[in-house]
Amino acid sequence: MARVYNFSAGPATLPRAVLEQAQADMLDWQGAGMSVMEMSHRGEAFMSIAQNAEADLRRLLKVPDSYSVLFLQGGAAGQFSAVPQNLMGNSAVADYLITGSWSKKAVKEAGKYGDARVAASSEDISFTDLPPRNSWQLSDDAAYVHYTPNETIQGLAFPETPDTGDTPLVADLSSAFLAEPLDVSQYGIIYAGAQKNAGPAGITIVIVRNDLLDQAQSTVPMTWDYAQQADGGSMLNTPSCFAWYIAGLTFRWLLDEGGLESISNVNQRKANKLYQAIDESAFYRNPVAEHARSIMNVPFLLANDDLNKTFLAEAEEAGLHALKGHRSVGGMRASIYNAMPEAGIDALIDFMRDFEARNG
Ligand SMILES: *Cc1c(COP(=O)(O)O)cnc(C)c1O
Repeated sequence: MARVYNFSAGPATLPRAVLEQAQADMLDWQGAGMSVMEMSHRGEAFMSIAQNAEADLRRLLKVPDSYSVLFLQGGAAGQFSAVPQNLMGNSAVADYLITGSWSKKAVKEAGKYGDARVAASSEDISFTDLPPRNSWQLSDDAAYVHYTPNETIQGLAFPETPDTGDTPLVADLSSAFLAEPLDVSQYGIIYAGAQKNAGPAGITIVIVRNDLLDQAQSTVPMTWDYAQQADGGSMLNTPSCFAWYIAGLTFRWLLDEGGLESISNVNQRKANKLYQAIDESAFYRNPVAEHARSIMNVPFLLANDDLNKTFLAEAEEAGLHALKGHRSVGGMRASIYNAMPEAGIDALIDFMRDFEARNG
């Protein structure tokens, strides 16, 4: 049976090598006589899986020792509430940069726990560009500034880390986690749901600077209390063991592929090819300002919306899966995460050219 090229935004395609390893381990993980799903999270076997995953992630991202790495449940959306509850204990003010659907949801949720302010927004231009730096209104008393480096739905990305002075920067990196090297020391908190670029659904990685561990509101739920989870090795409750293990295999795959410098070159090349194919044609179009285009999620519109259904049906038949754009943007979206092979991009471009030749 052939595997399709899966362009889903998430849960998303995983590296074949990771799936094959999981398959080989399924009935008997390294002589344990059982699968990873069946073992105690406190036993030696799973402890080694968990610790190796963290060590490999630290190696990939060069995470400084002054940061804790947590593996939590509840998804990235859970962090929309965990972040304010963990950081708004001293000052209940926070600034949010609104650049797409996910940051909009994040600020709304944070408003339940404090004064979550929209410091800048590009909603007036349908998130086709970033709000210019000179329009940002940052608060002096903000506990943190929250932003979404890569907006999964709009395909809008910050080309560089925003400078927020001494105010800790919090990033929802879900759809660009491990897509390219990153200077972790520029961030107070980085969080990411694994199911976009780092593993299956069910586990959320939170990287938090240790000096921020004492700012929680007293009502923060125990399982979302970063300080307690850091102390307890992310095991205050039974963690999402199998997802943690698969994320660990994905980190190992990335190291084997040469790490983040190497995957970032591939990602850049894949994205450039696809954007070039879109820009060269009068039949396809990407609405995002060139300097802020995502290398992970590439939305594109057809000149004639009436052809959307045919495009999707024929793409599916050609083994190109889940290209339908989010309903708020329309058209198509190709999510081209780390695990999407370059051959998948080539196949998509070939299909797009052929479809244009027949319908353009
Ligand atoms: C998918 C996504 C989320 C939501 O993730 P869940 O794990 O489903 O809660 C949040 N932020 C961004 C940027 C995403 O891409």
